[in-house]
Amino acid sequence: MTPMFKQYMSIKEEYPDAILLFRMGDFYEMFFEDAVEASRILDITLTSRNREKEQKVPMCGVPAHAADPYISRLVRAGKKVAICEQVEDPKKAKGLVRREVIRVLTPGLITEEDGLEPKANNYLVAINPGRKKTEPWGLAYMDLSTGEFRLTELSDEKECMEEIFRLDPSELVLPDPVEKDYTLDSFTEIVQKTFPTLFITRRPGELFGLKRGEKVLLDHFNVRSLDGFGISERNRAIGAAAVLLTYAKETQGELLEHIGSITPYYLREYLVMDEASKRNLELLANNIDGGKANTLLSVLDQTLTPMGGRLLRKWILYPLVDTVRINQRLDAIEALGGHPSVLDEIKEALKRIHDIERLLTRAVLGTINPREVLALKESLAAIPALKKALEGLGEGAPDLVQEISTSFLQLDSLHDLIDAAIREDAPMVLRDGRVIKKGFDKRLDELIDLQENTRSVLAGIETREREKTNIPSLKIGFNKVFGYYIEVTKTHRDKVPEGYIRKQTLVNAERYITQELKELEERILSAQEERVELEEALFKGIRQEIVNHKGPLKKDAELIAVVDCLQALSRVAQKNGYTRPIVDQGDEIDLKAMRHPVLEEVLGQDAFIPNDVHLGEECARFLIITGPNMAGKSTILRSTALTVLMAQMGGFVPCESAKIGVVDKIFTRVGATDYLSRGQSTFMVEMSETANILHNATEKSLVILDEIGRGTSTYDGLAIAWAVSEELLKIGEKGAKTLFATHYHELTKIASRDQRIKNLSVAVKEWGEEIIFLYRLIEGPANKSYGIQVAALAGVPGHVVRRAKEILEEIEAQGHVRLEQEGGEPEGFKKRAPRQLTLPLQCPRQCLRLKKAGEYIRDVDINNTTPLEALNFLAMLKQEIEKG
Ligand code: ADP
Repeated sequence: MTPMFKQYMSIKEEYPDAILLFRMGDFYEMFFEDAVEASRILDITLTSRNREKEQKVPMCGVPAHAADPYISRLVRAGKKVAICEQVEDPKKAKGLVRREVIRVLTPGLITEEDGLEPKANNYLVAINPGRKKTEPWGLAYMDLSTGEFRLTELSDEKECMEEIFRLDPSELVLPDPVEKDYTLDSFTEIVQKTFPTLFITRRPGELFGLKRGEKVLLDHFNVRSLDGFGISERNRAIGAAAVLLTYAKETQGELLEHIGSITPYYLREYLVMDEASKRNLELLANNIDGGKANTLLSVLDQTLTPMGGRLLRKWILYPLVDTVRINQRLDAIEALGGHPSVLDEIKEALKRIHDIERLLTRAVLGTINPREVLALKESLAAIPALKKALEGLGEGAPDLVQEISTSFLQLDSLHDLIDAAIREDAPMVLRDGRVIKKGFDKRLDELIDLQENTRSVLAGIETREREKTNIPSLKIGFNKVFGYYIEVTKTHRDKVPEGYIRKQTLVNAERYITQELKELEERILSAQEERVELEEALFKGIRQEIVNHKGPLKKDAELIAVVDCLQALSRVAQKNGYTRPIVDQGDEIDLKAMRHPVLEEVLGQDAFIPNDVHLGEECARFLIITGPNMAGKSTILRSTALTVLMAQMGGFVPCESAKIGVVDKIFTRVGATDYLSRGQSTFMVEMSETANILHNATEKSLVILDEIGRGTSTYDGLAIAWAVSEELLKIGEKGAKTLFATHYHELTKIASRDQRIKNLSVAVKEWGEEIIFLYRLIEGPANKSYGIQVAALAGVPGHVVRRAKEILEEIEAQGHVRLEQEGGEPEGFKKRAPRQLTLPLQCPRQCLRLKKAGEYIRDVDINNTTPLEALNFLAMLKQEIEKG
């Protein structure tokens, strides 16, 4: 084995689970299994080293200066990548160049632009499970690419899962237990099942301890106590946070200076939604293909910077409950809406702002390139313009706007430094120089002059030598092997003077060098080398200056993000005709002419029929909405939830007017999505979501139930829906505010038992045999289900529809009585009704007319017939026989 391979093997041994990118000159090479795997993932040619020898080693490589996209592709394919650099100058190395792994990358550790979505965070989450039932679970998360670092404690495993759903991390760090730990095992199993593609990293369990954790954080932040961060009581979370920090430092090999603080957060400060609501309401991803189209985010996201885009997602997932803060945002949005020219100026300034947070991170990690420094400069230049635009709102500007515009920190000096140092046409890579402007550094100017003068100096020598030797075709050239030379055609060979040293013979010419040329060449080449080195050093200085401004840069980036979100919400409100809601601590939700923010965009504003929803008062705390399928029930439910959410984000709402008493949680149980992939039946999921609501809803919550109980037989379903409704009304003193859509119009009877329940329905109009949906919410229950008409509308063939009508008449005629006739008592109904309405389908009237009774009896499967079904069967036979 060659010394180089020995070195490779010893490094690879330390990173057995990673693809090792081994720097060799201008390339990162991969060998053995790594090469086979990487060539497949990256679609690059697999070659081999030691080609002539027997032991061929599979190998592939990527150019080092353009490696970022390849690295991100490997990471996105779920691989861990270790980057091994030459850590000494090959020219100065004695023997083999020293090499070390300088960074390890996993999905949660990416900071390269290529691997990141600009408007989404890339979270690395660590969990420290509670050891006893009563102990909270610690959670910390970090976005290495932006420097965000937060922690919280959650009451149990379930809350922890919900938070993971919200954060949507790309990597999860879990403890590797010291001894058997059932809680952890079962949690890990659930996580793996729920997020099959999530990258999971295990770290030794002892690293999650409190004492050690505190020390890690104290050391990193260079403080004596954690009180200043307000996290000192968060014991389990501190362990998790420390693990993240150590993991990030170990893999990045840097001080991670951009992670300058850690912030605690508490779920009670937000309007929390469970995972089901996030999904059902299609906040960030739609239920069709999981994409961003037709989501609340897609409607609201008019942000212009990556920082704003990331913050808007947070505003959507973590709406507020504090009415003061909500109204501050509303004030700002209203003020901006009233000043179109200010809004335009803000827009122009924001358009020039790049991802300051991620650029800062790249400066800290030393990976920022000259172009990115220019992007930072452009962003800094836009900050004063942004500040000025905000000041355009004048004296009467709302508090939040004033606070922001006075909080911007001065970064002019950093801007001016970059402006003076970096050439506008600087290349992406540093290695060829041409990055630093003339006039920035005296020595560099000298070197540049020398290089620029070279041509004229060489031209001078050429003319002089031509004249001296009297060879008109004499010329000076350059090649890589022996540098500058003088070329003389063979015909003039005898005129060559002394002092010319022959270096190369061509067919028609001879090439010579002279002492003078050699000296000049040395000066030129060493000037070039010195220039590149000097430019590198100067660039590093600039980079360090950027890092030194990390505090103000982060602060300003945060302010920019807020301005961006406010202007986005303000522009969306104007474009879509939203209004400012009245948000208070009251108990009422009163929405006039409410629309669905996404559907109205899809259908067009004119095609969408607005509706009023009034919830919360004594007589209308629990709204039952009946109506046929497709009549618009879900749309009303979802619009209500989305409107409340938008208001509590601090945004305007798609209503003519809206009054909203803040809610603490929104729960939704909507529709039947496909859970087969998770191995759960639809009904199980529906019931576990319902159970979750009953356990966690308070009287300040908004509960949205769409067709619960549908996954089981009619009467089970109805009974469950009934019991759940009763239970929701028992929550707290007043009961949870609930909207319940159902096509069981039997359920509407429950209204007579509790005055807080109100019956509403969506209007339909009968037109001959057909029905027309009016999408209007009206008082009172629906009187028919119109299922058969809906089937006809959906294109079920005419003869099947006619047959269905016959069967329906049959069922109704036969004592499969409706609940109304039973006085609205589900118990009474259950006693009389058969479990399933299958029998009439098996023995239809026509058959009876055609076949003899005896033949028909033969077909009855006695083992699968309940006594009640048998009785009904008998009654029907009797009836038919009597009819003749
Ligand atoms: P349901 O829950 O009663 O089955 P949906 O709320 O799912 O009905 O509505 C079905 C379809 O009807 C929607 O996809 C939409 O195209 C249309 N729709 C619903 N509400 C409205 C409305 N207010 N205005 C216009 N079209 C509507």
